[in-house]
Parts: sequence; C-alpha cells; structure tokens
Amino acid sequence: MPSMNTLPDAAGLPTATVLLKPKRARPFFGRHPWVLDSAVLRVEGSPADGDVVDLATHDGTFVARGLWNAASRLRVRLYAFDPAVKLDDALWRTRLEAAVALRRTLGLDDRAGAARLVNSEGDDLSGLIVDRYGDYLAVQVTALAMALRLETLADQLMDLVGPRGILLRGAERGLSKLEGLQLPDRVIRGAAPSGPIFVTEHGLKFGVDLTAGQKTGYYLDQRDNRHAAARFARGRRVLDMFCYSGGFAVAAAVAGGARGVLAVDSSAKAAALAKANADLNGAANVTVETADAFEKLDALREAGERFGMVVLDPPKFARSRAALDDALRAYHRINRVAIDMLEPGGILVTCSCSGSVSREDFLQMLGGVAQRARRSLQILECRGAAPDHPVSASCLEGEYLKCVIARVG
Ligand code: SAH
Repeated sequence: MPSMNTLPDAAGLPTATVLLKPKRARPFFGRHPWVLDSAVLRVEGSPADGDVVDLATHDGTFVARGLWNAASRLRVRLYAFDPAVKLDDALWRTRLEAAVALRRTLGLDDRAGAARLVNSEGDDLSGLIVDRYGDYLAVQVTALAMALRLETLADQLMDLVGPRGILLRGAERGLSKLEGLQLPDRVIRGAAPSGPIFVTEHGLKFGVDLTAGQKTGYYLDQRDNRHAAARFARGRRVLDMFCYSGGFAVAAAVAGGARGVLAVDSSAKAAALAKANADLNGAANVTVETADAFEKLDALREAGERFGMVVLDPPKFARSRAALDDALRAYHRINRVAIDMLEPGGILVTCSCSGSVSREDFLQMLGGVAQRARRSLQILECRGAAPDHPVSASCLEGEYLKCVIARVG
C-alpha cells in the first residue's frame, strides 16, 4: 500500500492509459464510474495506486478519466468523462461545493440538524462519504484514491463548511479490505466532541455518538421515512423492531401521537441510545427492550400481542447477489410475523437496506407474504433514502434503501 503521504499528481493529468477489452466500453460511455479488472485489456504505462489514468477503448479512443487502484477489483474509478477535465484539487473543490450547495437547496443546512453532505457516486465523488452532525463532520473513505487525497479534501471541507472537527470513521470492514485500505478512526481536523452531539430532525432531538455509533453515528437515510411513518401512528400501539437509536419509535410516539411504542434492538448499546432519545423528547410511552428480533417477534406472536403499526428496519440481510435467496427468506419471515400481529387496517412500515435486493424483489416478497397470510396488503408509499443521499442515474448500485408503507387488511 502506498504511503498516506504520497501526494498525487497535482496537475491531475493521466500518467497511464487503461485500455478496455473490445465491446466493454458501453457502460463507461454511459458514465458508469466503476471499471472492474475483468474489463481491462492492458495498461499502457505503470501507474501507482491512486494515480490519474485515462480509460480508452481497445483501439485507443478516450472514454473517461479516473483513478487507478491495482489492489482493488474495482481497478479504476471514473470521475470525468471529458478529456479537458483534470482530476486535480480544483475539481474536488468544485464537486464538494456542488454537493454542499445541493444540501442548501434541500433546506438541510440548519446547523442544529444533520445531513449527508457527500454521497459517493451520487455526488460524483466515488469513494467519499461526508455526514454533518451539527458542527462536526464524519468522513468515511471507501476508495484508496480518496484516502490519498484526504488531507486536501479535509482542508477543502474546513474551508467550505467550517466545522469544529472532522472525524474519520472506518468504512465497513469488508469494503476496506477490497480496496487494500486500512484507516483507523481518528480526528483529522479540529477536535472530537466531548460527548454525544444532539441534532434536530423534523422537530425532534436525537443524541448521536460520533465516535462509537453505527455507520457514521446515525441513520440519516431514514430521516424522512421516520417522519412519513409517524403520520400513520396516531392512537396506535406501535412496534419498532431493529430500533437502533429509536428514530421510528420516538417519531411515532411524539410527532405521531402513538398510544404506546415497544422498541427492540439486539444491541444493548442501541437500546440504551433509544431509551435516552425517548427521554430526551419526553416520550414516556416508549418501552425499549434488548432482544433478538427473530426470537422476540415469535414470542410476541405466540403471546397473542396485537399492534396497530409495525416497523421493520433490519440490517443488511444480503451482502451479495449470492445471498439473495437467504435474504428474501429472512425478509419473508419477519414480515410474516409482523403481518400476523397487525390488527385489521394496521400499518406495516417495512424496510430493506440490502442493495442486492431490488425494489421489485422486495415488493414480490411482500406479495408472497400477503398470499401466505391470507391478508390483503395495500401499498401506500414506496420510499427510498432521503434526498441528501442522491443516487446517480449512471450508477444505480447507489440505490439500496427500500421503505414500504402498507395497510394490512
Ligand atoms: N431503525 C433504525 C436503524 C436500524 S439499523 C433508525 O431509524 O435509526 C438496524 C439495527 O438492527 C441495528 O441497530 C442493529 O443493532 C439491529 N440488529 C441487528 N441484528 C438484529 C437482530 N437479530 N435482532 C434485533 N436487532 C438487530
């Protein structure tokens, strides 16, 4: 692995050309940013990992410009499709500016709130994720090329956003390995907050532990889904399964006016966060339990419990296409139990964050559950991640979150 002090070519011009196999250029003319090793015919030149390279057809026609990583199956990540564009510091700055401006347009620049400022491919910055929590930024790097440019990016973020601190959070372990990347969590600018940060989301307050939480500390992608689900909670008894820090539970109880909420997570730490967030918002009717969802769902059903609304927001069940069938079975199982416990006219809020489970797969799974349970299921809303998680139309792999709100007859 190259030293983290290696300064990439400041000129941003290619040091090598990567030629594609015949008939393999179409996705990249279509602006897809990932060039897999299997598409590469040969390399002219000897780029170091992180260097700028040009991508060309087998007979040398320019296709795109990107950054090289011999250690990754994702051999080149593309950042420009015009030979006049240099991959230099000015380009990163322009991209960061555009990303920050978009969040302003979305009304997500309130310093009391939290927002994803940079969403990797969705902001033409493959391999970089930046979340803002109040006055702090949490950065995740999933590409070696971005890791090598971290100092520049951190300076630019300080300049553009002016946070009190920037924290580097480890990417998902599997991902880091694929890139030949090992970045320990650390403070890269300013200071870390001394305790949890409190952020506002649709008028509610949530504590976020930036140094030890899951993801970059909080599930920002579900912000608007928590709000949307709460609209259906009035007067109902709600089950929030896989509650993490209690976002759906607190929204249902406080904003939604639920009669009572049971929130469950297998992590004791998460359950404690959920309890603290319920208290913070004065939600006295939220009960939090630490339990395994599969066991707890079965136990609740066996005990004859009934709910007016069930939220299912499990972790990623399918890590790959190969795991798809197992994942669909697991989704089927939890959704079946949820439906069995829903009173007639009850609301199911069911989510999947597995990218390899398509929206269609997920809806079909729900159809199967309705059939088995002999209940009608009306889909009211088919939602995705909040708009500060934009998806590039050229890289639909960025679309992972499904959140279906349905009425169960
Ligand atoms: N709904 C949450 C995010 C949920 S993330 C929000 O809006 O913030 C998924 C959660 O599922 C994690 O907190 C994880 O601890 C929990 N989890 C994972 N496996 C579990 C299991 N078998 N039973 C219960 N919870 C589980």
